[in-house]
Amino acid sequence: MAAFGTVFMPQMIQARFADNSWSESALVPSDKIELHAGAHVLHYSSTCFEGLKAFRHEDGSVYIFRMDANIARMKQSSKLLNLPDFDESMLEQMIKDIVKEYADETPAPPGSMYIRPTHIGTEAAIGKAAAPSMSSLLYVLLSPVGDYFAGGATALRVLLEEDGMRCAPHMGMVKSGGNYASALGPILQARSEHQADQILFCPGGDVQETGAANFILIDGDEIITKALDSSFLHGVTRNSILTIAKDLGMTVSERNFTVSELLERAAKPGTEAALSGTAAVLTSVGTLIHNDQEFKVGSGEPGEKVAKLRQALNDIQWGKSADTHGWLTKV
Ligand SMILES: *Cc1c(COP(=O)(O)O)cnc(C)c1O
Repeated sequence: MAAFGTVFMPQMIQARFADNSWSESALVPSDKIELHAGAHVLHYSSTCFEGLKAFRHEDGSVYIFRMDANIARMKQSSKLLNLPDFDESMLEQMIKDIVKEYADETPAPPGSMYIRPTHIGTEAAIGKAAAPSMSSLLYVLLSPVGDYFAGGATALRVLLEEDGMRCAPHMGMVKSGGNYASALGPILQARSEHQADQILFCPGGDVQETGAANFILIDGDEIITKALDSSFLHGVTRNSILTIAKDLGMTVSERNFTVSELLERAAKPGTEAALSGTAAVLTSVGTLIHNDQEFKVGSGEPGEKVAKLRQALNDIQWGKSADTHGWLTKV
């Protein structure tokens, strides 16, 4: 099967901002964009994106999951990058239009249609290293995706990094290209030196998040995860899982915690840990690597509570249990 995110629908939908207004949106081929070589995004990284999914239900209808939350975050990212603002309703209509266009191609569970809104600064102005782009391009790409766990669920190996950071602290809440470029070097090093799958960034000992997913710890009936602040990405999956955990009667503790508390709790039998994000929903973390030592989280294997929470979220997405929080939008 093709790697996640390498297959695209042949068309996308786009709108351009110039002279202080947005164009009508239009369907265009997705295999190219027209851009000046001096475009702001190519030099000064004025780019942000979103990741959300549409799901096919048993009766064939297609639903988008938590579109409003992703649109709100895209507006926030655009604002923090000083890219042109847009109305929620504009991006909402663009997402609905393109998902509707390819509704028939939306894979059935456990697959889905991954939706990638992207916003880039297009002004040809290489003198604007310290000034915003006055024009931009907003587009929505679609990529049908299969079962993330096709090879069976395995528990991840995660390196705890206390010295470095994922990105500059004031950029943490922005889903922006530069942040991933910033984390790539350390992640490749962690892979080659420790056979780690991901780095859990813990600047100064404060357990934060990985390169592209949030981190949760489950100790008994309590879920612990870092409290929201501007230093990290506020995942929609994180919020959904915490909401479901409360529905299931679990205690949700959104608070800061340290590497030493993490290692202490991980050593207890029955403790579980996971990474949360739209692509994989929830993936168990089985091993923590710290100062060249390895520590198992509970049994070191994928955990039952992680599987139960993931299933509960999938059931809502797939229309197998009631959407009590109003998270689904029919296209
Ligand atoms: C996208 C992302 C997440 C997860 O966000 P979701 O809304 O759950 O997909 C977490 N951390 C980073 C750095 C991300 O880019």
